[in-house]
Amino acid sequence: MRYLITGGAGFVGSHLCDELLSRGDSVHVLDDLSTGTMENLRHLKGQEGFEYTIDSVANERLVAELVDWSDAVFHLAAAVGVALIVESPVRTIETNVQLTEIVLAQAMKKRKPVFVASTSEVYGKSTDLPFHEDGDLVMGPTVTGRWAYACSKAIDEFLAIAYWKERRLPTVVARLFNTVGPRQTGQYGMVVPTFVRQALSDRPVTVYGDGEQQRCFGHVKDVVRALADLIKRDDVYGEVFNIGSTEEISIRGLADRIVEKTGSRSEVALVPYAEAYEVGFEDMVRRIPDIGKINRLLGWEPTRDLDAILADVIEHEQAVPPVAADGS
Ligand code: UDP
Repeated sequence: MRYLITGGAGFVGSHLCDELLSRGDSVHVLDDLSTGTMENLRHLKGQEGFEYTIDSVANERLVAELVDWSDAVFHLAAAVGVALIVESPVRTIETNVQLTEIVLAQAMKKRKPVFVASTSEVYGKSTDLPFHEDGDLVMGPTVTGRWAYACSKAIDEFLAIAYWKERRLPTVVARLFNTVGPRQTGQYGMVVPTFVRQALSDRPVTVYGDGEQQRCFGHVKDVVRALADLIKRDDVYGEVFNIGSTEEISIRGLADRIVEKTGSRSEVALVPYAEAYEVGFEDMVRRIPDIGKINRLLGWEPTRDLDAILADVIEHEQAVPPVAADGS
């Protein structure tokens, strides 16, 4: 199979390239390197079946050509990371909505199946745990920047589902829960690489709020396996799937575990949300996926627990050059 991967130079996208190439498929990455990096793809350069173009998904003519070449499209190009969203809401909303419109419209011309990446952020402030795909999405007010991300991805989902229902374009949506692993950068706020880098350089580990908020962290290699399996199915169109781990840990507990595993002398520093993000910032207290739907369909479940994930990230970070004080 030939796959176009928008956002293929990003963290998840580059691991998806690895997965598909290892299955004997061909991939063409389209990425403008706004948050992705060529470093993520360096090991693939020159490999048979791997091509890339550095350009924006906003280049519709190029998207049309690449859609034409492909058998199916993974649309991963998006503005991600809470810090980026709070800093650049215009870019977040425009990128996430407009690019998805372009990909779906171009795919429609050739009726090529499209996978649209969404996020557990869409569940917002829901407390109906574990989150089920049919559950309500609970958003905060529009004056609170964070919700722009959730709403923009929810629009992407509506659009993908509508393309299937109204126009019979095969589409499928997956909501990725906190996904971590080698190559993820702490630059856009993601907690695991940030904590690991802080711990490895004996800087304070910055826990936001009281650290009682909990998350489930899944390994990117498990996640991309699910995506590669999902796009092959023809009984999933117009459907939404949760993908993630169900092993919960508090952020304070995560900080302690990373300090311990790295043998760091770092202290854990509690940072108020208003300082970390913006005044009025609202965090989710808990976020656990119900993964029954994807499990029933593909037999999928995570194979790596948090200890294995942290070992992998720590090993990766130890191998990369020292980082700047901002964690980048
Ligand atoms: N977080 C933290 N310190 C950091 C970065 C993040 O305490 O340096 C917290 C963040 O407030 C959230 C959790 O870690 O409660 C996960 O953050 P991340 O941005 O990785 O993903 P999110 O779950 O917010 O999408």
